[in-house]
Amino acid sequence: MAVMAAPENTPVWVNTDRCKACDICVDACPAGVLSMRPDPHSTLGANIEIVAVEACIGCNECELSCPDFAIYVAEKSEFKFAKLTDSAKARQEAIEKNGYRLPEDWKEA
Ligand code: SF4
Ligand code: SF4
Repeated sequence: MAVMAAPENTPVWVNTDRCKACDICVDACPAGVLSMRPDPHSTLGANIEIVAVEACIGCNECELSCPDFAIYVAEKSEFKFAKLTDSAKARQEAIEKNGYRLPEDWKEA
């Protein structure tokens, strides 16, 4: 298995070639960082997308829950992660209610 090199100054990143669009990481994220987006080339018609990278709190839930090793989180020693905010929680709630996709008309509080 190819291991993706960590991009510089990035809290969380994905290998979309490995993503099976299972929604698990999107469900696990407490901060509304992740969302699915339509992708006709992907197995299940969707693929993972990072929609609010600046909100990542580095909890590692996505990386730990992904069955396909498609998402990676920086080491705490290498990145200063955000704190969990009410607006991040609200975005996560909206994503979950919208079938794990960030609503197209979503506006940040
Ligand atoms: S590390 Fe936590 S906050 Fe960051 S994307 Fe993964 S689940 Fe979300
Ligand atoms: S848990 Fe992994 S395979 Fe499932 S949607 Fe997230 S990145 Fe893709």
